[in-house]
Amino acid sequence: MQLLASYLGGAWVPGSGSRTTLVNPATEAALAEASTGGYDLAAAFAHARGPGGTELGALTFAQRGALLAALAKAIHGAREELIELAIANGGNTRGDAKFDIDGGAATLGFYADLGGKLGGAALLGDGEPIQVGRTARMAGQHVWARRRGVAVHINAFNFPSWGLCEKLACAVLAGMPVITKPATATALVAHRLVELFAPLVPAGALQLYLGGGAALMDQVGPGDVVAFTGGSGTARALRAHRGVVEHAVRLNIEADSLNAAVVAPDVEVGSETWNLFVADVARDATQKTGQKCTATRRVLVPEARLGDALEALRERFAAIVVGDPARDDVRMGPLATAQQRDDIKAGIARLAAATDAVYGGTGEITPVGVPEGKGYFVGPVLRTTAQPMDCAPLNEHEIFGPVLTVAPYAGDAALAAAFIARGQGCLVSSAYSDERDWVAGFVGAAAAWAGRLYLGSAKMAAQSPGPGTVLAALVHGGPGRAGGGEELGGERGLHHYMQRCALEGDASVLKSLVSGS
Ligand code: NAP
Repeated sequence: MQLLASYLGGAWVPGSGSRTTLVNPATEAALAEASTGGYDLAAAFAHARGPGGTELGALTFAQRGALLAALAKAIHGAREELIELAIANGGNTRGDAKFDIDGGAATLGFYADLGGKLGGAALLGDGEPIQVGRTARMAGQHVWARRRGVAVHINAFNFPSWGLCEKLACAVLAGMPVITKPATATALVAHRLVELFAPLVPAGALQLYLGGGAALMDQVGPGDVVAFTGGSGTARALRAHRGVVEHAVRLNIEADSLNAAVVAPDVEVGSETWNLFVADVARDATQKTGQKCTATRRVLVPEARLGDALEALRERFAAIVVGDPARDDVRMGPLATAQQRDDIKAGIARLAAATDAVYGGTGEITPVGVPEGKGYFVGPVLRTTAQPMDCAPLNEHEIFGPVLTVAPYAGDAALAAAFIARGQGCLVSSAYSDERDWVAGFVGAAAAWAGRLYLGSAKMAAQSPGPGTVLAALVHGGPGRAGGGEELGGERGLHHYMQRCALEGDASVLKSLVSGS
């Protein structure tokens, strides 16, 4: 069986720790093994801080952008192979796999273009010069400068391509060398990506670590940055990590999120906005078997529309064929691991005690095309409750699977916003309305609780990618339960890997530093 090596210090090294087996979650067949440790991580950090930082630092933004463009091209060249790996190791349907892999390439492409626009500057200006003396001669100017440590990237199991690429794009464009750690269970895609990328980047600019996250964290020091995507329990451990606390290591966290969708009373059943709502929610609750940080989990519709909403969503869920994701007729594959399946089953049981079943019971399903008794499957589940505001299992526990709860409400914007707030901070939530005053009331009250608000309406319906698609131009992250982090958002995504410095001096000198002229 293939032993996945880590790419550290410029070489592929197998590690000498005990081994973890990576499996196909539809069949439970073993695919590969990875070592849990036994690497010289101190040397890997030195390799990043030394040659990696020096070589990336010597490049302009435009040159780093060109490098990212080469990585995007490498993904396009190996797209079919990557899709096959995602189907086998991630339980992805072909559509799920494309979402992850094309999303990674598109994000690299976006930052490649941004690099071209930023050109040859060494520093990024932050705002306009400020007169701080008696005359305009004495000025202040904020700038962003490349940080000199290592960017440590720890990713979740659900987006092995997109997660790796979106973090890598921002760090590399900012000029920081990266050590990337994929979730072990679905590491085949990330491993292949680094095989493709390694010959294209300067020495030390990108290393791949397959092994325990704790050992990696023990190496972090002054100037380093950690960007983490995963569960809130792991996030808590990282926040309290000795190295993070002692060295004030910059830590960005993308964690759990109880994303919601709300429909305003002006939306008529069968209207363009209603149809957008049904299509968005049905897709975002079940795409990637619900293992999407941006998936919609909770829905409010006006009381008079509850029956229509449940019927429309029940119909969509009933049409989903669950089984071996390698088959063309299958729309939903298994969960990525046995642990995820067990966690989701426990979450559904908790939710079932407080809500009523509409479709799918508690997720029992007979998958098609799979050996009997094999695979980590849960079918789509639709539930309802008359008490959405007080339902703790709905508002306080993320079920990272294809589970949706739809509930009625009186229809006012303040109540809709209060429902978003019940999730205690989310990555994205959506509202469907063509009534501007309702939307203004909702956004004013809900924006503090969401990293992104998606406003569905008839006018944008034809062009909408849906709330579940993360765009490189817009920030991704959210307050509270969602981790309090922020990634992407165009140039904002670079700032995490840069230090803001206030310069004070002669106005013409400051101008020359920022413009590079
Ligand atoms: P997880 O168990 O927290 O694992 C995430 C990553 O952290 C993995 O690479 C894991 O490595 C690593 N890790 C585990 N313990 C660690 C430690 N002590 N120190 C450093 N790293 C450690 O989460 P998951 O099960 O992969 O992902 C599911 C969760 O991620 C869900 O709750 C979901 O909400 C969240 N998520 C959030 C976003 C977002 O953008 N906000 C996106 C996707 C997923 P191993 O795999 O080797 O254990």
